[in-house]
Amino acid sequence: MLQLPTCVHVFLGLGLLFLGTGCSMTSGASESPVPVVLAIHGGAGTLLREDMTPDKEAAYRAALEEALRAGHAVITKGGSAMDAVTATIRPMEESALFNAGKGAVLTHDERCELDASVMDGGTGLAGAVAGVSTVRSPILAARAVMDHSEHVMLSGAGAEAFATDQGLEIVPNSFFQTDRRREQLRQSIADEKHGTVGCVALDAAGHLAAGTSTGGMTNKRWGRIGDSPVVGAGVWAEDETCAISSTGWGEFFIRGAVAHDVAARMRYGGESLWDASRAVILGTLTDKGGTGGLIALDREGNVSAPFNTAGMYRGWIDAAGNVTIHIFR
Ligand code: ASP
Repeated sequence: MLQLPTCVHVFLGLGLLFLGTGCSMTSGASESPVPVVLAIHGGAGTLLREDMTPDKEAAYRAALEEALRAGHAVITKGGSAMDAVTATIRPMEESALFNAGKGAVLTHDERCELDASVMDGGTGLAGAVAGVSTVRSPILAARAVMDHSEHVMLSGAGAEAFATDQGLEIVPNSFFQTDRRREQLRQSIADEKHGTVGCVALDAAGHLAAGTSTGGMTNKRWGRIGDSPVVGAGVWAEDETCAISSTGWGEFFIRGAVAHDVAARMRYGGESLWDASRAVILGTLTDKGGTGGLIALDREGNVSAPFNTAGMYRGWIDAAGNVTIHIFR
């Protein structure tokens, strides 16, 4: 008999719950009334208001704001959208709150295996690493693949050898592991299946960039790779349309080429960012039983953050430094 990993059972459960409760019960979307320069997500999932203590919420809000301000500082000093994306994602990788870098979810074998990607909307270049277990910053490794190799995606031991050659910091796998994730693996808590991080940015030169970093899904095995390092699924950026970072049940995002689908609707169908991103997440993805969300930014600074889960950590910052953060619907 086919044995499904626990993560699949849990997500099937969530999917059925979702179908049972109907789209309007579990979907949400946010936008900003003023143009923004940078937006982030910290993962989507069954984030219930009743499970959130004031201290926990304050910690998440502080971490999201710290990340937004790190990227904003790059943009306001005239830095590139791409530099802003990596500067924003770094503190989230270092924070044990998110499922990226330190604090990443554990695999079936109780290890952390990390995926990350970046894409530059001005050049169309992209870089990604998949299944790395010793590179302290997967997002910087993805960036190095884009900047310093002729490839787009490197995986496993080869990606780690490349990162070492590039002078990136190498750490033991235990660096990423936390008790919270060990407990989560033991219990396979559905509520905790979130926390991938992502960033989209628009710089003063009008260029867009996007990046995504994750530990994937709890209890994954067999070298499973999700959507986060897959260009067109977990990440996309092109100056003509938008920058996207996705989070959710990766298999659905890969099969739906979700990030690219939003851009394609804009490019070929003339849809707005808001319409395209909602159609893909609240329409196509939802109809197929997938769960998750994305953040999207266009060249005018419009931001859209649709999701069909109970919550998605998300926030953005405008040029003046005004920060907005939302967690629930
Ligand atoms: N999309 C990630 C994956 O499937 C997980 C997540 O975003 O929570 O690996």
